[in-house]
Amino acid sequence: MQITAAVAREKFAPFSIEQVELADPRPDELLVRIVASGMCQTDQHGRDGYFDIPFPAVFGHEGAGVVAAVGSGVTKFAPGDHVVMSFPWCGTCANCRRRMESHCENSRVLKMRGTRPDGSTLMRRNGAPVYSAFFQQSSFATYAIANERFAVKVRKDAPLELLGPFACSGQTGAGAVLNTMQPRPGDAFAVFGVGAVGLSGLMAAKIAGCDPIIAVDIHDQRLALARELGATHTVNHTGRGDVVAHIRKLTGIGVRYSLETSAVPAVFREAIEALMPAGTCVLLGSAPRGTEVSFEMPFLQFGRVVRGVSQGESHPQEFIPKLVDFLMQGRMPVDRLVKFYPLDEINQAAHDSSNGATIKPVLRMPH
Ligand SMILES: [Zn+2]
Ligand SMILES: [Zn+2]
Repeated sequence: MQITAAVAREKFAPFSIEQVELADPRPDELLVRIVASGMCQTDQHGRDGYFDIPFPAVFGHEGAGVVAAVGSGVTKFAPGDHVVMSFPWCGTCANCRRRMESHCENSRVLKMRGTRPDGSTLMRRNGAPVYSAFFQQSSFATYAIANERFAVKVRKDAPLELLGPFACSGQTGAGAVLNTMQPRPGDAFAVFGVGAVGLSGLMAAKIAGCDPIIAVDIHDQRLALARELGATHTVNHTGRGDVVAHIRKLTGIGVRYSLETSAVPAVFREAIEALMPAGTCVLLGSAPRGTEVSFEMPFLQFGRVVRGVSQGESHPQEFIPKLVDFLMQGRMPVDRLVKFYPLDEINQAAHDSSNGATIKPVLRMPH
């Protein structure tokens, strides 16, 4: 069928809104009418050539929409279902077999090659392939093909246009806290960087009962929002000599959990040094290959843990509906992070996201 998509024609080029041909769903696939899609830094990294996807390409991996048709073998979804499209995994590698789907060994190929696992593209234009299937979805479009394994059914009374970001930034931040850290009430928590991922982690820390909750960033307006969403203390990194000393003063001994989302090596080091003995630092910030960090080895001898986490170690079919419930209970007000743009203003959305003016752009699709 003919659909409208935001196409990246070449590296660094602005997105252009074009008509492309979308494949029919295979037996295990859904055709999803996209209502809205969040935009993540990873989409822009894709457009800027960080990954292996050839051009032209369609990005977008935080899609939410309504099932329009299902393949012949699909049994768990029906037309009319509301769905969020989550990240893909292979299901057969050693990590998938241990239910560590977010750390699937084939994750990069499935997310970032621009094709289905068998090499076929989902979209074409004038007979030529348009590389799509980004995260097996490519949601910057009016319709997408989603494999039923990675689609998540969500309750119909929830505002669908707000749910897309749960597929990536939401479950990345909240899952790092609720799935990986699993804090107890009263545990001290610090988050370094309060963009969409950091704020999702912060809201989760509040849900878990962490106290204090310390937010560190360089933008005063983001820190003000962090405070409204549950931070008990905020620290503007700019001009403050020693952030770690400040956190130690606030907590007495350091934090039980720290969440690093900035991807800045010096800040990562602070997130480690802010830990109390037996504390855990989770790294979410994604730095370019070759980035190195240093810290003192003896610091880890007191049971401190540093670990990298992807996609919040989430089992999306279980975790995303939980996040939607938190939203409906007013405990995860993602609407405070979101600014909506029509699809044809995608370049403005990318610009506002890069310079920090918008925390989480969400593109509304024309229908
Ligand atoms: Zn796997
Ligand atoms: Zn993402």
